[in-house]
Amino acid sequence: MADPEEEGLKLIQSKPEGVLQSELWKVLGVDSRKCSRIVKKLEECGLIERVEFRKEGIKTYLLKAKRQPVNPCDLLAGEELIPCIGCELECIVEECHPLMDWMYQLAIIEHTE
Ligand code: SF4
Repeated sequence: MADPEEEGLKLIQSKPEGVLQSELWKVLGVDSRKCSRIVKKLEECGLIERVEFRKEGIKTYLLKAKRQPVNPCDLLAGEELIPCIGCELECIVEECHPLMDWMYQLAIIEHTE
């Protein structure tokens, strides 16, 4: 079974508009006290933000994922920078040869490490 904190974080990250805490515990299949502990831990780790929210007059919290800084190493295949940086092509990701070549290069590097 998945770690409920990880599961909660994934769920919150999948909803850019945010998730109500009063609904999160039901989706996670935990009680509201356990959900509060999960939310507190995610907030303390700086992974989410919690904003007071009223739904039908009842106080709850809107939970939103915080954006994490990109690790610059994730943009490199060896010494080759991902082609999307500074790209001016008309973007159709599924058909992009520069990106496919870069990903191929990345796969080779990861396979040989
Ligand atoms: S996917 Fe291709 S076309 Fe789109 S931004 Fe990246 S390099 Fe440019």
